[in-house]
Amino acid sequence: SYSRSLQTVLGAPGVRGKRVTALSKDGFTDFIQSIVTKKQDVKDPFYVLDLGEVVSLMDKWTRSLPTVRPFYAVKCNPEPALLGALAALGSNFDCASRAEIESVLALGVSPDRIVYANPCKAESHLKYAASVGVNLTTFDSRDEVDKIRKWHPKCVLLIRVKAPDDSGARCPLGPKYGALPEEVTPLLQAAQAARLNVTGVSFHIGSGATHSRAYRGAIAAAKSVFEAASRLGMPRMRVLNIGGGFTAGSQFGEAASAVNSALQAYFPNEPGLTVIAEPGRFFAESAFTLATNIIGKRVRGELREYWINDGIYGSMNCILYDHATITCTPFACTSNRANPTCRGARTYRSTVFGPTCDALDTVLTGHLLPELEVSDWLVFPKMGAYTAAAGSNFNGFSTSAISTHLAYSNPC
Ligand code: PLP
Repeated sequence: SYSRSLQTVLGAPGVRGKRVTALSKDGFTDFIQSIVTKKQDVKDPFYVLDLGEVVSLMDKWTRSLPTVRPFYAVKCNPEPALLGALAALGSNFDCASRAEIESVLALGVSPDRIVYANPCKAESHLKYAASVGVNLTTFDSRDEVDKIRKWHPKCVLLIRVKAPDDSGARCPLGPKYGALPEEVTPLLQAAQAARLNVTGVSFHIGSGATHSRAYRGAIAAAKSVFEAASRLGMPRMRVLNIGGGFTAGSQFGEAASAVNSALQAYFPNEPGLTVIAEPGRFFAESAFTLATNIIGKRVRGELREYWINDGIYGSMNCILYDHATITCTPFACTSNRANPTCRGARTYRSTVFGPTCDALDTVLTGHLLPELEVSDWLVFPKMGAYTAAAGSNFNGFSTSAISTHLAYSNPC
């Protein structure tokens, strides 16, 4: 089934027609070696997107959360090949803006596979959603009800509620979004008075969640909103949107169990209920590897300092905004051709700086690296989530100019 899914992905819009390399057993090392050897003059940073990893992640999702339909959160990484691969694998999409909706529609995805999951939408973006038939959105304020009534009255709504506990999340969203329990009934009444159709509830337990129990608390809170709607005589709610917060590592099993058991406890045999989710990090993080070139070096006693051509204002903005901890491995194809991965080599305490003239642009400190030279490479795994998506053009180093090479891992 991996091979069949992979074939589907290779024919997907955003992927079709592009060169996709099968990774050998040595995987990225070989692949990156082949790229950097070809790029002897051009030493720009580049991403490698492993489409096989995307296939495996979708398989993992479907096996662990069979009743939850994923709507990939485009904000996390809008790379068209990733969007196309996910669309081909049956994912739907969470878009937060006109441009995100456009990029998903451009892949031939129909508008009914999109949730416009931004509780506070600019009028022009909302009008655009109406014009292209994106008819499902979230809200958590009276002003949004008025706006939707005026510009997109056919839109079906999900009331976004604040998750009761997002304390375990790397990036809690509660301070900004989600109706408080006491705001729910007045908001439902406002929507009712505006003759808008509120079809369900959405929440987000925070990105990079570490407490799986947060899903249970939020699903319980959603159930009480379903009950409040029923008390108001509103049509039966049909959609539960459990948001994002999932990571693909060992914690995923625990999160999936928490979701499945809470759905069983609070929504047993709910007739016609559709459960959806908005995973971003889960599908993007481990699928991308970033290769950066060493463009400068300074030796201060035992300390080694390196400058690379991507940094805090580029892909590594995740250190600031996403509170990410990143790591890298050396690829010394210039200075140590016989042993480019530097296995067994002596290491030095090293600092890695980004390319801009700001001292804040420091990527790693106290990292142990072998002796490297200008033109060697540093390779950062798991760089797909909230990286290139939020980079800037500061100092003329443009994140959007970073290219993405496509590959797939061979499970055999
Ligand atoms: N949905 C919404 C509304 C979000 O704001 C976010 C992230 O901020 C996501 C989904 C994706 O979350 P994650 O990457 O944690 O899965």
